[in-house]
Amino acid sequence: MQTLDLEKICCGAEKIGISGHIRPDGDCVGSCIALSLYLKKAVKGAEVTVFLEKPADIYNCLKGAEEISTKPDEAERFDVFFALDCSADRLGAAQKLFEQAGKRINIDHHISNEYGCGDENYVVPSASSTSELVYGLMKREYLDADIAKAVYLGIIHDTGVFQYSNTSPETMRIGAELIGYGFDFTKLIEETFYEKTYVQNQILGRALLESVMFMDGRCIVSVIEKKTMDFYGVTPQDLDGIVSQLRNTKGVDCAVFLYQTGILEYKVSLRSNEKVNVAEVAGYFGGGGHVRAAGCTMSGTYHDVINNLSRQIEKQFEKKD
Ligand code: 5GP
Ligand code: MN
Repeated sequence: MQTLDLEKICCGAEKIGISGHIRPDGDCVGSCIALSLYLKKAVKGAEVTVFLEKPADIYNCLKGAEEISTKPDEAERFDVFFALDCSADRLGAAQKLFEQAGKRINIDHHISNEYGCGDENYVVPSASSTSELVYGLMKREYLDADIAKAVYLGIIHDTGVFQYSNTSPETMRIGAELIGYGFDFTKLIEETFYEKTYVQNQILGRALLESVMFMDGRCIVSVIEKKTMDFYGVTPQDLDGIVSQLRNTKGVDCAVFLYQTGILEYKVSLRSNEKVNVAEVAGYFGGGGHVRAAGCTMSGTYHDVINNLSRQIEKQFEKKD
């Protein structure tokens, strides 16, 4: 895969837009902010705007987070528009802006985004994160502590603080370079990755308590219904991390977490250790993601959803056993 020359792509551009996927996670927010801070320095005179669904408050520690636009104006035209950490169909309200831009650029690491959706694409499924890819395109002369912090945040969120198998020697080398810029990385990890609010811990506890093992203990599932979310006063962002905790259960190969998004509709998060390619499972139901972390949205009752998922997970076990 050819890399991109950011300066060349943006040469002469007056308006540059950047966006990432709906329900933005750390990598999505980190890569969008890092790229915007960088382009503001590297492309003189350009106006650079980030469009995202409102990110969780934990990301307010990044410079420029307060300037993120959550309500794109569909009439606005951009010379260059970047879609980060997803394909165009997951850009939400910014999809129109991307499609009508002069130049469309896609940078991603999702295996389910095989071909890319831009005029120029940089899709590397082996990369730990989109933030790692974006960093690789940056000239060192423009880097600073704020950009480094945003890249680092993206990497730690998608690698579980350098733990998941998508962490490569290159990821660690980049991590080492980044902390050299002198931001408080310990605080960043603590406050954006590990720290939970009281209600977030309560609902995590509830999800663990009510979880059920199936397929002889090789899978675990838990569901949070809308009425439970209302009872605790939580939003979907407060449920981040529950599926990872389920996956930590000894003996479990595949963890499934669902939360209700509407009448007979659930958002599904899947995590696996080795035996289940959850990107394929999610892809079967119109979603996507990575081999060991993926998601989709499914219709039906909770039992329908679990039955349908189980069949596809079983197929994965049959392939591997
Ligand atoms: P999560 O379970 O944390 O929502 O998502 C895990 C991974 O799967 C992330 O990389 C996320 O971008 C991707 N993902 C989650 N839901 C969907 C979906 O509906 N479609 C696609 N294409 N990817 C998804
Ligand atoms: Mn990512």
